[in-house]
Amino acid sequence: MFKYLRKHPASARIFFTGRKLFTFFLVVVFFTLLTVLYADPAMGQEKPVRLEDSLVKKTVQIAPNMEPVIPHPLQDKEVRKKLAALEKKFGKKPNILIFLMDDVGYGDPGCYGGGQAVGAPSPNMDKLGEEGLILTSAYAQPTCSPTRATILTGRLPMRTGILRPALPGEKGGLDTEITMAQLLSKAGYVTQGVGKWHVGEDVGSQPQNKGFDDFYGFLNCSNEYTAWRDPSFYPEVATDPARTKAVESLPNNLYLVHGVKGKKIENLVEVTIPICKKLDQMWTDYSVKFIRKMAKSDKPFLLYHCTRGCHYDNYPSEEFEGKSPARYPYKDVFCELDQHLGTLVKTLKETGQLENTLIIVTSDNGPEMETWWDSGFTPFRGAKGSTWEGGMRVPCIVYWKGMIKPGRKSDGLFDLSDIFNTSLSLAGAMNLIPKDRYIDSIDQTSFLLSDEGQSNRKAVFYWLMETFSGVRVAEYKMMLAATYPTGDTWNKGGLSGNITIFRYAKMFNLYLDPKEEHDFFIRKLTIASFLQQAQNWHMETFKKYPSNVKNESL
Ligand code: CA
Repeated sequence: MFKYLRKHPASARIFFTGRKLFTFFLVVVFFTLLTVLYADPAMGQEKPVRLEDSLVKKTVQIAPNMEPVIPHPLQDKEVRKKLAALEKKFGKKPNILIFLMDDVGYGDPGCYGGGQAVGAPSPNMDKLGEEGLILTSAYAQPTCSPTRATILTGRLPMRTGILRPALPGEKGGLDTEITMAQLLSKAGYVTQGVGKWHVGEDVGSQPQNKGFDDFYGFLNCSNEYTAWRDPSFYPEVATDPARTKAVESLPNNLYLVHGVKGKKIENLVEVTIPICKKLDQMWTDYSVKFIRKMAKSDKPFLLYHCTRGCHYDNYPSEEFEGKSPARYPYKDVFCELDQHLGTLVKTLKETGQLENTLIIVTSDNGPEMETWWDSGFTPFRGAKGSTWEGGMRVPCIVYWKGMIKPGRKSDGLFDLSDIFNTSLSLAGAMNLIPKDRYIDSIDQTSFLLSDEGQSNRKAVFYWLMETFSGVRVAEYKMMLAATYPTGDTWNKGGLSGNITIFRYAKMFNLYLDPKEEHDFFIRKLTIASFLQQAQNWHMETFKKYPSNVKNESL
């Protein structure tokens, strides 16, 4: 053959070029095979999960006094089956752990893009998020007390009348409301409250009188305990004995308290700055004891654990002071809370209760980002006190070993009021929900637990105290009123910002414009009609079930 090729140089060129090509082909095949054999089998196979389009989904009314739901009979069926199997295994209904942080921002946990990037790693939250469900459109209310009341009653602040944070010594609270703890108690749950209460100090509103078998924490707003004692923050009081004495004589409860169902609340120790540094550790220790005790019980439990951190002013414990990469008090305390969460999860695991416990980790409102530099972080517009996304959209991690498929992430709408109906649904006690008042909560059990769960909620409503501020359906948000800066450079439209009522509504596409900067209301009136419909049905509910708040506009 070589003889032939020598005689015919043209054929030789073709032969050798062909051989090179063939060799090249073999090399390509070899490396392709290597790639296929050694590649991560999941790589390249994942497709983006598209959220069900709630804009076009119809809702159904499940009771005259309940928020309409988007029905999902198949996912309901799947989840009921899973729950029935679990109940058979454990011989009781599931436990519920609510880990509620204070003023923590959407952008703080690592699994929400924060963590190391904002100088405060959160390995425990991240692990729960990665092995559970990360909700990217979960909504609190703009401030502390309204959110806490909403979680506990399933009703929006405009119905309960808890429109803003309760001031120290102020009257009113949850006394006329019915709480999740009361109803779960009736359903056979042991109910434990730990930490910050802040929904009424009156006897009738105290936790041990609103359904909690036991409460260990404080009743008031976080900073009222310590701010005036701190010479770096309040020198005009802290360095003046007469003023200090005058503050001490105010009718505030400045104590860590203990309440037992049906008994008078007991003052334990005054919350000074050194005590404040230890509070979250003390509260975690208390919850750990409770979890250990419940391992031997034939009853399920509700543990409502509300942290002291990260509300200003933050006083990290000695162990954590200066230990976060940022070395600022908020960040140190955030890292500390992450460790406390890890301790609670570890205790559930050690006591064999992890697989029978739904864990919800969230925050009661957006961060103080725009009014104080050492605070939480949100990537959205606005901050605590506003109805811009930054004020109300919060991190919300839902974890349940064996019940929630690891690695889930959903942008389905979730309002923290939904914790109320969802908890009662898990307890098999939906029949106990009151019928004489409107319930804004929606049972989201199947959304949270089904492998491909879709939200049962069509709309989220935004209220600025008694002013209706807006509505979100799917990725669209229509705003009728919002807060704006007061004119000074310090406050950027949070609690004390001006409320502006718009002559024309504003509309934002939160997928294209998550910072709510580009109003396109007038260009997309067709979409606005859907939001208008939701607003109309919401307003109708106030006609049928009058609010506790006197408001002529309703
Ligand atoms: Ca708060």
